[in-house]
Amino acid sequence: MHDLPERDPQAANEPAPSPVARDVLGASPRGIWSDVPDALWNDWRWQQRNRLRTVADVERVVRLTAGEREAIAGTAGAFRMALTPYYASLIDPDDPDCPVRMQAIPRAEELQRHPADLDDPLGEERFMPVAGITHRYPDRVLFYVTHNCPVYCRHCTRKRKVSDPHSAAAHDQIALGLDYIARRPEVRDVLVSGGDPMTLSDERLDQLLGALRRIPHVEVIRLCTRNPVTLPQRFGDETIAMLARHHPVYVHTHFNHPRECTPEAARTLRALADRGLNCANQMVLLKGVNDDAETVRRTNVWLLRQRCRPYYLFQADLAAGISHFRVPVETGLSIMRALRGPVSGMAVPTYVIDAPGGGGKIPLVPDYVESHDDDAVVFTNWQGERYTYPAR
Ligand SMILES: *Cc1c(COP(=O)(O)O)cnc(C)c1O
Ligand code: SF4
Repeated sequence: MHDLPERDPQAANEPAPSPVARDVLGASPRGIWSDVPDALWNDWRWQQRNRLRTVADVERVVRLTAGEREAIAGTAGAFRMALTPYYASLIDPDDPDCPVRMQAIPRAEELQRHPADLDDPLGEERFMPVAGITHRYPDRVLFYVTHNCPVYCRHCTRKRKVSDPHSAAAHDQIALGLDYIARRPEVRDVLVSGGDPMTLSDERLDQLLGALRRIPHVEVIRLCTRNPVTLPQRFGDETIAMLARHHPVYVHTHFNHPRECTPEAARTLRALADRGLNCANQMVLLKGVNDDAETVRRTNVWLLRQRCRPYYLFQADLAAGISHFRVPVETGLSIMRALRGPVSGMAVPTYVIDAPGGGGKIPLVPDYVESHDDDAVVFTNWQGERYTYPAR
């Protein structure tokens, strides 16, 4: 009789081999962190613990302008600064207008108030039945579950809430929100947002998503997170498997520029897609960052390669302190016109403006119709050629 091979006592506890194909090679240069061992660099908790929060921290990566120093001090009370080492490593230290730098390091203009600025630009308070829920559309709600993010985007529309240490304790808010959703059978789609929900631990996220799943009328969960951009290390295999246990779960993320399109981000997006966590991108049109068709096109075709679908292109709203990012609507429309035709329709998002005061999203479409009378509609195609179609 043959001896049975001894069973490895560890094997029973090991997770099943991941089916996830992390099939993108390469890594971004780490700049001043080149000596950090991979095990730490790829550990999202290390990234969180080592975030850059002060002038001295940031000066290790870039030489700050006087305006930036002033802005870091001046915004500290209202909307603080934080950058993960990973996101900071994407900054070009030699370019004062680097698009990653502009999104993460405050500028002097951020302290200015523009006459058009609104305190609550999207009228969220008007549609807030309980703290932490915005219920503006009949069948879906936005559910804010935290006020923290790995990186505080300078253009954030929810500035007045995000990173505010005085806003309501997330714990109570989550219970209230769950209770509200459970009592509203018309809510079939919940956008879990914040802040960035991926700042919660896996345990808390698992509980939260499980609680939503136990509500019979909640059909779809959407997880709104910028972690694929600012902290792609957050999505380890176990985290992704946990999220996939709550399907159908969609992921909404927020890539704005090709500098953010790294091998690390690609691996995360592919790993999410492999587990059926379909990703959609919500880009914000930002002056000096992505206000030209070529930048939007490059970002969007890259996203498609990672199986992330460009979903919305947002006109920046009227939040205070972001007027220096606003782009004329004309520019947005001309970007949309430039995309349609030369590039796959899959890479063309819907350009929307979130109506000031809470009107919801309004699509802005370039005008292809030249004339429309009782007989005919006359329009131009993407190449500017004229075509006619009978009016009825
Ligand atoms: C954007 C938004 C949604 C989701 O809208 P979709 O067009 O379905 O992606 C839901 N609620 C609020 C308040 C929103 O602003
Ligand atoms: S990740 Fe989202 S919520 Fe957080 S600061 Fe950026 S835009 Fe705002």
